[in-house]
Amino acid sequence: MATPPPDASGTAVVAIDLGGTSMKGALVDARGSALARLDAPTPAAEGGAAVLAAVLRLAADLAAAAPARVVGAAAVTPGQVYEGVVKFAANLGGWNDVPLARELTATLGVPAAVEHDAAGAALAEAEFGENRSSDCFFVALGTGIGAGHVRSGVVAAGSAGGAGELGHIPVYPDGDRCACGQIGCLETYASAASIARRYTARTGTVVAGSDDVVARLGNDPAADAVWEQAVEALAVALATTTLLVDPGVIVLGGGLARAGDTLLRPLSARLTARLAWRPPPPIELSVLGTDAGWRGAALLAWTARNASGRVPAATGGTR
Ligand SMILES: [Zn+2]
Repeated sequence: MATPPPDASGTAVVAIDLGGTSMKGALVDARGSALARLDAPTPAAEGGAAVLAAVLRLAADLAAAAPARVVGAAAVTPGQVYEGVVKFAANLGGWNDVPLARELTATLGVPAAVEHDAAGAALAEAEFGENRSSDCFFVALGTGIGAGHVRSGVVAAGSAGGAGELGHIPVYPDGDRCACGQIGCLETYASAASIARRYTARTGTVVAGSDDVVARLGNDPAADAVWEQAVEALAVALATTTLLVDPGVIVLGGGLARAGDTLLRPLSARLTARLAWRPPPPIELSVLGTDAGWRGAALLAWTARNASGRVPAATGGTR
């Protein structure tokens, strides 16, 4: 990525996309351009305290790299997030009630915000995506399935940060039991991990991931059957989503979205077929890919900074 000079105001925010295996950081100016990029491994195996220390170290390193004055910070994370606190995130070394926004503020001395990673991606796609919309429903199709919804430019996070659990919408009421305990969850059929697992269960052939199943489509009836069931499950879930929240655009991201038109074409057709009396919203693939997280975090950080002058901690800088 090209590194433009700091904008006229000479200010920037620290933005971090915290994942289970690595964290991506950026120092971002008011135009959304990255002035610096730094990544680091997530030491999840060393426990939650080590992960927190690593995030704060990355934030401090980014701030030190600044040719600009840092005025805000934000992170997006997996797990459930409420008012700047990560309530629970198993793959961050078992985080429970980690007040990450407050920790970022203590480290950097600036207003800070924290949001669920899919919500951050939804913000980024709403702002920078192919089909810009102030109402964007982002679906992360990875090891699990999560969603983030931006309405009128603001994250709809639910009453306690519990919105967006698209992966656990029941799509087959008499279906298989999900790891979460419910029956027939979308994630059991259509996550990248489930597609690989279901193919192996049918054939006895171990595959590395959903990409291996996609590569067999058209030549392997078992792959075709697993894929068709996954796409149908996604269509059911997105029909429910469309009828419930009427999104301006649905954006698909995560590893499974790498299937491209192999996913998009049949999914669009099935979604259209399921919606008898209304057209589907535009449905598209993420154009931001793995940059959606830090780009969304930067938008959150600027919002936290701008809100701090009017409403203290409006986005959860403190509890
Ligand atoms: Zn479930």
